[in-house]
Amino acid sequence: MPLDATPSFLLSDGVAFDCQSCGACCAYSADWPRFSTEDDDQLDRIPEKFVSADLSGMRCEGNRCLALTGEVGKHTACGIYELRPDVCRACMPGGDDCLMARAAHGLAIA
Ligand code: SF4
Ligand code: SF4
Repeated sequence: MPLDATPSFLLSDGVAFDCQSCGACCAYSADWPRFSTEDDDQLDRIPEKFVSADLSGMRCEGNRCLALTGEVGKHTACGIYELRPDVCRACMPGGDDCLMARAAHGLAIA
C-alpha cells in the first residue's frame, strides 16, 4: 500500500519496493479493497465518498481506489491511511499480492 510512513523494503536481491513511489496494489482491481474483518466503528470513520455504493469496500474508478492520490509508479499516497481497510494493511511490499499488482502495472518485481 502506498503508505504515508512506511519504509521501503529491501529484498534479498537488493531491490527496494517503495510504496510511496508505487501504489500498484491500490489500482489493481475494484474487487480488491473490500471490507472484511473491520468492525462497524472502524468502517464508520471512512468518509462516505470513498465507500462503494453497496458498502462492500472502497469506492473505485475502474480498478483504482478513489482514496489513492498521485500517479501509480511515480508518487502515490493513501488519502485515508489511518483509516484504511484491513486488506490494505495486510498487503506487504514484496508479498504475492504486491508482486502481482506491480507486474500488472509493468513495474519491476525483482
Ligand atoms: S504494490 Fe507493493 S510496493 Fe506497491 S504500494 Fe502495494 S505493497 Fe507497496
Ligand atoms: S484505502 Fe488506501 S491503501 Fe487501501 S486501496 Fe485505497 S488507497 Fe490503497
